[in-house]
Amino acid sequence: MNFEKILEYQRIDQEILALENEVNKSKERANLAAAKNNIAKSTEIINRLKDEAAALLVSYNSVQDKIDKLKAELDEYEGVLDGVQDVAETDYHIKKVSAIVDNISALEKEVALGSKRIDDINDKYKKTWEQGVKDTAVFKAAKAEYDKLVEDYRPQVVEKVNARDALKDDIPPKMLDVYNSLRSAKKMPAFVPYDGKSSGCCPRCGMEVANDTLSKLKNPGDYAECPNCRRILYIPEK
Ligand SMILES: [Zn+2]
Repeated sequence: MNFEKILEYQRIDQEILALENEVNKSKERANLAAAKNNIAKSTEIINRLKDEAAALLVSYNSVQDKIDKLKAELDEYEGVLDGVQDVAETDYHIKKVSAIVDNISALEKEVALGSKRIDDINDKYKKTWEQGVKDTAVFKAAKAEYDKLVEDYRPQVVEKVNARDALKDDIPPKMLDVYNSLRSAKKMPAFVPYDGKSSGCCPRCGMEVANDTLSKLKNPGDYAECPNCRRILYIPEK
């Protein structure tokens, strides 16, 4: 098999990957990722505060309901002592009333605590929101810089992609499929020259290649799949 075209394809493709790699490792990309991360953090805090506020509102309403019921109960006692002569009965009613009053004051304390927490949440929400606005501005600037970098790289990437893709028609589709699946598996280079100096090991993954694979690699143009990393080993033309 002649590997000339696929090797040329691979060479250009590796140059494209190298350019992509430069973009991926750029400070612009890192800044963008960091800015994105900050926004995600603020958003998470905002959502948590919203959830907590909603839960507090539910519990506030239920406590308020309890207070209203107790107050209504209290109203029923109004004037009840007027007609009562019996000391024990008076005592009984007073105990009842004071128990209700205690309950109400405990619940009102709860409301006060809840209301303080709501204030805290509001405060935190406002601060986080302001931070989020700042983060968004930073993100927009980082995005613009990253986009500019990508734009700067685009002409050379496009040129290489065109040169690479122009070779496609001259490469057997099956060979291209094998290449692409190795590429997606990040096994580059996918086609590896096997020159005999590798003493029975795959030059890329270093694993020993079994004899039945080696037996396929005798003459220039021969090729075989490495049983371990699945790369295509081939004997270069002289
Ligand atoms: Zn291998």
